Amino acid sequence: MKNTYYTPSIYDVMCLFEEYNKKFFNGELMLPRFSLIKDKKIIGRFVCGFDENDNVDDPEILISESYEYTDDKLKDVLVHEMIHYYLAETKQDIRMKHGKAFKLLAEDFNLRYGTNIEKTVDDCGMRLVKTKKKGFLSKLFS
Ligand SMILES: [Zn+2]
Repeated sequence: MKNTYYTPSIYDVMCLFEEYNKKFFNGELMLPRFSLIKDKKIIGRFVCGFDENDNVDDPEILISESYEYTDDKLKDVLVHEMIHYYLAETKQDIRMKHGKAFKLLAEDFNLRYGTNIEKTVDDCGMRLVKTKKKGFLSKLFS
């Protein structure tokens, strides 16, 4: 699947999450909700609420389905969001910032696992999904 571009399904994202959770986070992260969003500006995002003790509540990972990704790119995007999740869960950073805690962990991941996690996502290894032109019949009937 290297260098093949694809838009993952929720199930794909869930499977990758489980794999990276085991590999990189000792399986410590609880399964969050996953959503695919049509958004060109947001590639990935981690959102959650907090209870009165600042514990993560209702975590959710959003991935843009406006793009197709290579396996490596999707990994970088997903692990980026999982780092936010982990930092929130461990109360190191509950505001999902790209501060010191994020930077340290991202650099550690990049060194140890060969990932390429940055504060921002460049567009290398991803491409916009071509919107299908409506066919003649759907034009007539929509
Ligand atoms: Zn981020």
